[in-house]
Amino acid sequence: MPSCIYSRREDQEFDREHVIPQAYGNFEPKAFILYDTVCKDCNNYFGRTLDFALSRDSTEALLRFRYGTKPASEARHLPYSKLELKIAQPGPWFGATVVLEADRTGKAVEPVPVAQAAFRWKGAQDWNYLVEQEFQPRRSCAVCQSNSRNSRNPGNGPYDHGPRTGS
Ligand SMILES: [Zn+2]
Repeated sequence: MPSCIYSRREDQEFDREHVIPQAYGNFEPKAFILYDTVCKDCNNYFGRTLDFALSRDSTEALLRFRYGTKPASEARHLPYSKLELKIAQPGPWFGATVVLEADRTGKAVEPVPVAQAAFRWKGAQDWNYLVEQEFQPRRSCAVCQSNSRNSRNPGNGPYDHGPRTGS
């Protein structure tokens, strides 16, 4: 009786195991499929976790668009939870955050900037780009609950207190 190579269980139903996940294409005529090697529970677990992360939220996920194993129209569904794309080409967009979307032909993907703000230090050449998540509200003081954003007296410690009331 076969046992699962991961859980070592024998009392399970077995599934076909694609050595290279189908997300990366079909490799015919040899599809590198193992039989009676991985149980259904383990195969489903790795499909939901490892295969999903690799095929949707990694550099390998981007290669799927380059090599046509994923339609360009589906680029907009990438989760970008572990993946961040920035323009690396020298120029005014250097460092800007982008996502991939289908181009006008619908057959390829192109980088599209996300909503972001840019600033440039006086005398510097490069722009610094900040996306919405990087604009953090200032911390409020744990003692007086004042928000340093309202400060009129900066430079008095880690929290710049505004005027206190009632004292
Ligand atoms: Zn198993």
